[in-house]
Amino acid sequence: MGTNPTRFVIIGNGAAGTYCAEQLRKLDVACEIVMIDDEPYTLYNRVSLPRYLRGVLLEQRVYVRDMEWHEKNRIDLRLETTARQVNFEEKVVHADPGGDLRYDRLLIATGGRPNPLRCPGADGAPYLFNFQYFDEAKGMVARIPESKVAVVLGGSFIGYELTEAFAHRGLETHWLMRGPWFLRRALDKDGGEVVSLLAKDAGVHLHYEEAIDKLERSNGQLRVTGTAGFSTTADLVGVGLGLTMNIDVFQGTAIETNVGVRTNEFLETTVADVWAAGDVAEFYDVVSQRHHRMGTWDNSLNHGRHVAKNMLGAKEPYVEVPTYASGMFNSNISVMGVTTEEEPDAEALVEVDYEGRNYKRLFFLGDKLVGAILIGKMKGRKKVLELISSRAAIEDRQSVFGLLAMPEAVTKAATPE
Ligand SMILES: Cc1cc2nc3c(=O)[nH]c(=O)nc-3n(C[C@H](O)[C@H](O)[C@H](O)COP(=O)(O)OP(=O)(O)OC[C@H]3O[C@@H](n4cnc5c(N)ncnc54)[C@H](O)[C@@H]3O)c2cc1C
Repeated sequence: MGTNPTRFVIIGNGAAGTYCAEQLRKLDVACEIVMIDDEPYTLYNRVSLPRYLRGVLLEQRVYVRDMEWHEKNRIDLRLETTARQVNFEEKVVHADPGGDLRYDRLLIATGGRPNPLRCPGADGAPYLFNFQYFDEAKGMVARIPESKVAVVLGGSFIGYELTEAFAHRGLETHWLMRGPWFLRRALDKDGGEVVSLLAKDAGVHLHYEEAIDKLERSNGQLRVTGTAGFSTTADLVGVGLGLTMNIDVFQGTAIETNVGVRTNEFLETTVADVWAAGDVAEFYDVVSQRHHRMGTWDNSLNHGRHVAKNMLGAKEPYVEVPTYASGMFNSNISVMGVTTEEEPDAEALVEVDYEGRNYKRLFFLGDKLVGAILIGKMKGRKKVLELISSRAAIEDRQSVFGLLAMPEAVTKAATPE
């Protein structure tokens, strides 16, 4: 007598969900895989959206998987389908449309949604965009040819991506951020200054300690009034104000949630046969020895592949130093491990070279290197990553800069005018 194949249900077809499905199929040819998502698209690369917005990548190149791939791999993908409720005792997801969906093992890979701008005039304002979904990127791409002036609010990576794309498109671009510099919790003033220099090199107008106070419609444009004196009439307004994790469906259930869905190092939630992966997973990180969330493509992809093995019966901890790499105008930025953003007590050492637009910040907890941020030259990045991963005791903190091969002449310089 044969046994029934295991039925896996995945909520969310982003990187975490799709790479989990792919791995499940590789490791178990007989299993059933159902994946639901409320968006209308097969997996697309959110990391490619900035290049699409910049106009250097065609729309078709943003997609990573098509429907044919899902059919070939017998992954039953149901788009424009929302998980409204999960009954963990009965092991049923209530999908809309579609009704009840039975599962043996469930993956929560629901990611996050962007926080909207809240100020007078923002509700339903035309030409005001967040930047998380393909549809938002398409809306901005359609508007850009009619635009001359753009305003961006947000002092983190999405704010940067919007600013860079608008400036690249030749728009007069105003970048507003509430803090005194970019990534204010992870970079110090020196790092903020290097980013300012790179932004100014790209022709961007910077407005620190400024936010949007109100928006008013004005002859097919938006009049933007700032909280600290800024004012302009813009054709396009983009905001990057962080994400709220999509955990509403699980609140008040036996699934433990905090900012995201809490898991252990195996990405198991507090409910049997339910795992979480990707942006939404607030997982126990064995490298930094704490719970945290990582909002990166590589983390979601690796989580997806890893969790599939555990969903099939393995019990392997997820061990990876979190990393985030991005362009930074005509340069690059790389964030590795834990910074003062997640661990305010971490002690930091800095080397900066304003002229070369290079910056290195190392984060230590006790005698361990736990994280680093590099802007500009990336030489030695891998070695630093290995050092973070090894958790080796470091006696001479300054010696880590040697790995990054900083020329000796370049030491901490005075802040330029
Ligand atoms: C513009 C942009 C640029 C980025 N740049 C970089 C970069 O340079 N480097 C980097 O590492 N990372 C970058 N990221 C972050 C990276 O793309 C994300 O961390 C990653 O894509 C998250 O994947 P995920 O599968 O965890 O979640 P998501 O991709 O968010 O997928 C979750 C899916 O679940 C759906 N969903 C949610 N709730 C439900 C429900 N109840 N029912 C059904 N479906 C639901 C959502 O609509 C979504 O489609 C960028 C992100 C953006 C938006």
